[in-house]
Formats: sequence, structure tokens, C-alpha cells
Amino acid sequence: MMNTSSLPENAKKAVIIDDFVEMAEFLRDLCAASGYVAKLYERTADVDPAVFLNADVLFLDLSLPETDGVQFMRQLGGLRCQTPIILISGHASCILSAAVSAGRESGLNVIGGLRKPFSIADYDALMTTLESAADQAASPLVTPEMMQEALDNNRIEPYFQPKIDLRRLEVCGFEALARLRLPDGRIVLPDQFIPTASECGLGNALTDRMLILSLDAWRDWAARGSDWSLAVNIPISRLADVQFPDRLEELADLWGIDRRQLILEITETELLDHHPTAMDTLARLGMKRFSLAVDDFGTGFSSLMQLKRLPCVELKIDRSFVSDMHRDRHSEVIVRKSIEIGHELGLIVTAEGIESQDDVDALRAMGCDQGQGYFISRPESRQQIATSYIDGFAA
Ligand code: C2E
Ligand code: MG
Ligand code: MG
Repeated sequence: MMNTSSLPENAKKAVIIDDFVEMAEFLRDLCAASGYVAKLYERTADVDPAVFLNADVLFLDLSLPETDGVQFMRQLGGLRCQTPIILISGHASCILSAAVSAGRESGLNVIGGLRKPFSIADYDALMTTLESAADQAASPLVTPEMMQEALDNNRIEPYFQPKIDLRRLEVCGFEALARLRLPDGRIVLPDQFIPTASECGLGNALTDRMLILSLDAWRDWAARGSDWSLAVNIPISRLADVQFPDRLEELADLWGIDRRQLILEITETELLDHHPTAMDTLARLGMKRFSLAVDDFGTGFSSLMQLKRLPCVELKIDRSFVSDMHRDRHSEVIVRKSIEIGHELGLIVTAEGIESQDDVDALRAMGCDQGQGYFISRPESRQQIATSYIDGFAA
């Protein structure tokens, strides 16, 4: 048994509620190895609310004596509990998924589910999600003034996440992801500032800034011998501007880039209907030989209909399916069928959210073309990319 008393005073706190004692002890050991001190309980009634309200993570078994996990989540919802929750269960994966959704609908911060018997890799993958959710929660919401100030003072920065060719296992491109650097040096993730930028009319300025900065980095890498593609996220609102294709063409010519290698990732495609000019713009971007990708495929915002409407060359399967593939048969089927649909339509298929070697192996076996995810690399700054992928190879 791991000696948790050797963990520091300020170690993070986990609460495990599971009446299967061996499983709870196994989980306690895994928690200790990731720096959490865990308290174990066999029944929900034994836990003082102050304990789980102040915990850094709560592992909750679904099948418990007296009050089961789903009933307990209802109580937690009433207490406005914001502790990250990981559900554990020996039930079929569709029941676990339904319980995860039920918890989220009660306003709880449910990170995901672990199906018993789970592997250390399953545990690690969920803890990675937990840590990134914690980083996100720690970063402040950005006000319109902060957004304007960040644009004025060049504190919007593209980070780049590599995409790999899953057959050759080589880097084939990078996706640019926006980051806002606060005056104190902290990095804010896009979910915390993109909604503000769009609401206060700075969305187009943000997109254009990201394009220019990413193209600049990309040209530098190309000058040093790389032939990677570059993907940039373009919101539908930018496409409402009919001049966007001409403006992008000018930029591409100025930077002397191969347009096919510039991939414009389009999300929120359901909004196309509210922006009649966006379809025009997409068609003209296709005619000008820029590459278009359907991002987050399979989620509410990106459906089969879009594959019929958009002149795209790439389909990116949403990470929620990819990271659940090993725990949930439904997600696995969705991933496999999305790859088939993409290939039948002549598209390159990219899987987002690869978090383990098992994900890589499964996706390769399914014939997926490209992959992206924390297991390969987290998004990194322009300088880090040059050091890791260019200077490193040259050395
Ligand atoms: P996206 O375009 O689908 O980008 C992928 C997101 O998944 C990134 O989050 C990336 O860090 C995250 N991710 C990658 N691999 C993994 C993994 O293995 N596990 C998990 N859990 N997550 C992974 P990020 O950077 O926070 O961006 C979130 C979203 O914000 C993006 O989703 C995109 O829709 C939007 N976004 C990012 N940059 C821009 C931008 O410049 N303009 C616009 N309009 N939207 C942007
Ligand atoms: Mg994207
Ligand atoms: Mg995506």
C-alpha cells in the first residue's frame, strides 16, 4: 500500500465514495501517485458535505447502498457543488455516459467516467482532463477592455499543436490556437476570451491577428526547410464579410505561401443559416484553392448536413468521441463510421484529442489519416515549436 503520509501538507484532496473496498484502495494508490491525498467512504451518508465541497476531485461510484451515485449527484446539484467529479461504475458504458450527462445537466462539473475494471491509462487520461479543466477554471474571464488592451499590446499569441500523419507517424502540420497573455504572464485559454471578443465586436480583429501571426511563424519554419500545413480556426462571423477571401488571398500572396497548405477550420456551422453571405465566402475560398476543414465533427454544431454543403477537404472528428473511444462502445462506433464517411467522400480524416498510445493504435487500425492530441503534444509557443521540431532535428 502506498504511503500517503509522505505527501506534502498542501497536497490536493481527493474523496472516493465506493463500497467496493479493494477498488477504492487501488484508486487511493493511483491518487497518491498523482499527488492527491484521498479519503475513502463506503456510503454517501458518511461524508460531511464540507469534505467534498472542499475537495479537488470527487470519485463517485454509481452503485452504492442506500443513496446511489445518480441520486447523490442530484443532492450535489442542490448544494451547487463545483468540485470536479469522476464517476466510476461497473455498468455498461452507455449507462455511465448517461450518468455523466445527467450530472452535467444538474450543473455539476463532471469530468468523465471510469468503467470498472479500469486501467491506469484510463485513469491517467481522465486526470489529464481534470488538470486542464483546473487550469481553465483558474484563468479569469476576460472583459472587453482586457481584450482590446491585449490586441493593442500584442498579447494575443498563437500556440501550435502538431498534427501527425498516422500512417508514417510523422508531423504533417500544425493547428494555430489562440492564447491571451495577461500582463502578469499568465496564459488564458480561448474559451475564456473568444466569446468576449465576438460579443464586443473584436472577433474579426482577433481572427486577422491570429492569421497574420501564424502565417509569420509558418513562413519562418518553411524558410528553414519544413513543409508542414497550417490550420487556423475561422469563425462563421468572419465569413460573413464578403471581402474576406480577397483579403486572405492578398495575405497569402504577400507571405508567398502555398494556399492548399493553409487549412481554414470552420466550426459553428449551424450558424451558416444566419449568415447568408457565409456560404458565398466559403465557395470563393474553395475556388481560390484554400483548404477548408469541418472542425469538431459529430457535435451539435457540425453535422452530416455540413459535409453536403461545405466544399471541404478535411473532416476533424471531435475530441469528445476520440477520448471516450476505449471506455464507450458508442463513441468507438461513431469514430469508426466518421472515418468511413470521410473517406467515402474523399476527405482527409483527422482525429482530435488523442490521449494515449491505445488511441493511436486504434485509430491506425481504423485507417484514420491524421491525429492530434495531448499524447502527441500539447499546443506550444512558436519558439518551443522551432526548438523542438526544427533546431532539434537540425542538431
Ligand atoms: P479546436 O479548434 O477543436 O481545437 C482543439 C482544442 O482541443 C484545443 O483547445 C486543444 O488544446 C484541445 N486539445 C488538443 N488535444 C487534446 C487532448 O488530447 N485532450 C483534450 N482534452 N484537449 C485537447 P483550446 O486551445 O483550448 O481551444 C479550444 C477551442 O477554441 C478550439 O477548438 C477552437 O474552436 C477555439 N479556438 C482556438 N483558437 C482560436 C482562434 O484563433 N480563433 C477562433 N475563432 N477560435 C479558436
Ligand atoms: Mg480547430
Ligand atoms: Mg476541434
